[in-house]
Amino acid sequence: MNSAAPFVPETHQLSELAKAARHCKGCPLYQDATQTVFGSGRPSARMMLIGEQPGDREDRAGAPFVGPAGRVLDKALAAAEIDRAELYLTNAVKHFKFTTNERGKRRIHKTPSRTEVEACRPWILAELDTIAPEVVVLLGATAAKSLLGNDFRVTRHRGEVLHSTGLVSEGDPALVATIHPSAVLRGPSESRDEAFDGLVADLRIAYATTRTVRSEGSAGSGTFIPAESPVRR
Ligand code: SF4
Repeated sequence: MNSAAPFVPETHQLSELAKAARHCKGCPLYQDATQTVFGSGRPSARMMLIGEQPGDREDRAGAPFVGPAGRVLDKALAAAEIDRAELYLTNAVKHFKFTTNERGKRRIHKTPSRTEVEACRPWILAELDTIAPEVVVLLGATAAKSLLGNDFRVTRHRGEVLHSTGLVSEGDPALVATIHPSAVLRGPSESRDEAFDGLVADLRIAYATTRTVRSEGSAGSGTFIPAESPVRR
């Protein structure tokens, strides 16, 4: 069975997790990608952002959100007055999945399968458990389904403050689902501004939730969604 679980060490040290992830062979995606792209950012982040998978640029650089989608995210964070240095950013799947064009020169993003997302989930659960964020932003359907199951629809719940249980050992972070920044680039040009504004609005909601937690000790009420899988340990 495909799973990263045998490769995930029992530690709450991010550096140890990242080191171990370099050698993960939990699914076949490691075979063609350049390297594992583990999460990066502040270990004590109150807000954690989860995307889909590294893209071409991320695969070469070994860091998440450094390509075109990362630039959209940076702009959206700036518009929402959120400092990227305060956050922890990662992806649901840690290796780049791609196909090549006819000439074999250009690597074209391919959406990871459900099996690959499930195989990689132990890394996300380990990151969640280690960072213990107050709020998790799920950027796009792959990230949302990784944690909340295949029936979850971003279109139905985006921008809502959601709750689930069993994702981390202690405390349950609030969850806010929104579009992936690449959706702003992929959409028709006439609706890009609207898509971007929607992303900014959802990020603002998520960030405001961290302030609520700080002042009131909880993220308050919200929609409950059962988690896809139990806590890792
Ligand atoms: S995609 Fe995830 S599970 Fe698959 S090899 Fe890479 S790190 Fe391991």
